[in-house]
This record gives sequence, structure tokens and C-alpha cells, in this order.
Amino acid sequence: MSQKRKVAILGATGAVGQRYIQLLQGHPWFEIEVLAASERSAGKKYKEACNWVMESELPKEIGNMTIADANVEAVEKAGDVDFIFTSLPGDLAGPVEEQFAALYPVFSKASAHRMEKDVPLIIPEVNPDHLQLIPIQQKNRGWKGFISTDPNCSTIQMAITLKPLMQFGLSQVMVTTMQALSGAGYPGVPSLDILDNVVPYIGKEEEKMESESNKILGVFDGKTVKNASFAVSASCNRVHVKDGHLESIYVKLEKKPSVAQVEEAFSNFKGEPQKLKLPSAPENPIVVRKEANRPQPRFDRDAGNGMSVTVGRIRSDPILTMKYMCLGHNTIRGAAGGGILSAEFAVAKGLA
Ligand code: NAP
Repeated sequence: MSQKRKVAILGATGAVGQRYIQLLQGHPWFEIEVLAASERSAGKKYKEACNWVMESELPKEIGNMTIADANVEAVEKAGDVDFIFTSLPGDLAGPVEEQFAALYPVFSKASAHRMEKDVPLIIPEVNPDHLQLIPIQQKNRGWKGFISTDPNCSTIQMAITLKPLMQFGLSQVMVTTMQALSGAGYPGVPSLDILDNVVPYIGKEEEKMESESNKILGVFDGKTVKNASFAVSASCNRVHVKDGHLESIYVKLEKKPSVAQVEEAFSNFKGEPQKLKLPSAPENPIVVRKEANRPQPRFDRDAGNGMSVTVGRIRSDPILTMKYMCLGHNTIRGAAGGGILSAEFAVAKGLA
């Protein structure tokens, strides 16, 4: 990369925005030029507006940056940027991302545009060809830039594991999630609601898991994505864990593979980010653990610098075909790390 791309982060003070800042420190291709958040934070120094909850120190130069309002005029006044990472609340992201996309590539972590027909819902290892929706979107909308979206955090890790299972004739998926607190943003779930407790409901999460997976694993036919047809049933729970979503997944596979074949399919799975050696690509998108009691959030969420999904307890199921546990870091692979990998992939393909 001859010159580093300059980026803005919208939603920079939140759980995902902070992770973007942390992961972009020393990034070989990208550097942070503008930080933006709500009007509550705009005009303040980042260190004054943000309660930094990452384990690493807040970089001094970031702490001293002045936060801009999350609109095009304010961001352009704050600096010259090449593209935008957004981690805004879903309801707000819709119109804001459209304003930016008229001019800039936008890599979004919000749900607002994920299911629109001409918007890619990308996991670079899983559906790299869906990026070809971008010129179609630009033509449809008359935009210079575009919107590329990443899936919901609990969907990303599941979809990565479903991809290598497609060869076995995947027809049904049942998933129960145990989702970390950081998935609810900052400050998130009140402590008195979650201490000593599990909350068996996360608003709109089950619907997202059930709809997004079919688009992600759908086939791009040159014009549009024809959704995959397997059925998904999700049950989502909030648990008392800081980072890392654990999922119990049951799949029906028409070709009835053995446990060994499924393990091999998971272990051998690689995608374009690995071939292209993108800076944020983990060596193994899926790590298989053989111990009886893994994966666990505390031990496995940082596998592959938080970019690998860890599976374990792969076993036959008497009702469907196979069952396994799946763990991913929700604010790294499920959020900022996933967004950065999507942007690296788009840059490598000459789109940003
Ligand atoms: P969060 O911690 O609540 O952060 C929200 C961010 O948006 C803050 O920077 C906040 O700025 C800003 N914001 C709020 N209202 C705004 C407004 N009216 N105008 C401009 N900026 C505004 O949430 P989060 O967990 O980072 O999630 C951000 C997005 O990513 C959501 O769409 C979420 O669904 C998605 N996501 C989250 C995760 C996760 O694991 N947390 C994973 C995948 C996707 P102020 O500090 O100024 O209020």
C-alpha cells in the first residue's frame, strides 16, 4: 500500500467504536483521521467524552482528538477522509450512512441496510463475490461511494461455521446463544438485571440470525443474491460474560457426514482473506478444539487475535445430524475486526 487510507469512525465513543480505535493502532493500511459521535460528545476531547473500557491504554493522540458531529459537513470540516467506519445505533445509522455513501465508501456495523437487495452483507471468507453488488448499488442509487454491511455479531460466527457445512447439504439450523454483555454496547445491560442471572431475550436478535444467514450464504448470480434455503431457528440469551458469544448449534446435513468429516471441513476452511494475506485475516478462520469442555469465552475468544471462530464438542445428534459449540469475539470478529477485514478486502479488490 503506497499511502495509508485515512478513515473516520462514526460512533467512536461506543463499545464497537473503541474497539475500532484499539485495532487500528499501527494498522499497516489505515489511519484514523476523524472521530465522530453524538452531539452530546461533539466538540469535546475524546478522553473527556468517552469512558474508555478497552484493556489497553487509550493512545494519547486519540485522547486529545476533538470529536466531530456524525454528519458529512462536520466530518469533512474535521479532516480529509478516504472512507468511513460506522458503528451507530441501528435506527440512526440508516439516513446517516446514506448521506455518507453518496460520497464515500461506508463500512457499516449497523443493521439498517443489511437486508437491502443491492447492499452486500459481507464476511470476506464466506461470500467474497457478494462485493460485486457494489457497482450495482452505485448505479441504482447514483452514489460515488457505497454501503457495505457486516452481519450481526452472533450471526457472523455462526455463518462462518455454516459455510464449510454447505457441501454436506445443509437444510436446518437450530441455535441457542449465550451472548456477552459488550454486545449490548456501553453501558449496556444494568448490573442489577444481569448479576447472578441470565436474560432469555435480546430484542430483534433472533430475527436477525434467522434472516441474515440465508442472505450471507446465498449465491450471487451476476445481478442479485439468491438466498440460501436452509431453515434457521434461533433462541438468544444474554449472559454474565464480558466478551465472547457462545452458541450451541444443531444442524441437519442431508449427506450425513461423520464427525471426522465435519471436523476436517472446519479445520481446512480458508477464504480469500487468507489467500490475499490481508492484515487482519486470521491464519485459520475456524479453530477446532478437541477438549471436552471447550470452547469457553475466557480461554478462546482471543483465538487468532479475536478473528478466529472456535468450535468444539462436535458430535452426532439423534434428532438432526450434528451438533457443536461455537465461540466468537463479538466486538472483534463480530464487530470492529470484521469491519476492518471487510474494508481491507474492498481495498484489495480496488473498491475503496
Ligand atoms: P454503543 O456502545 O451504545 O455506542 C453507540 C455510539 O453511537 C456512541 O459512540 C454514541 O455516541 C453514538 N451515538 C448515539 N446516538 C447518536 C446520535 N444521535 N448521533 C450520532 N452518534 C450517536 O453501541 P455499540 O455496541 O458500539 O454498537 C454500535 C452499533 O454496532 C449498533 O448498531 C450495534 O447494533 C452494532 N453492533 C454492536 C456489536 C457489539 O458487540 N457491541 C456487534 C455488532 C454490531 P455518544 O457517546 O456521543 O452517545
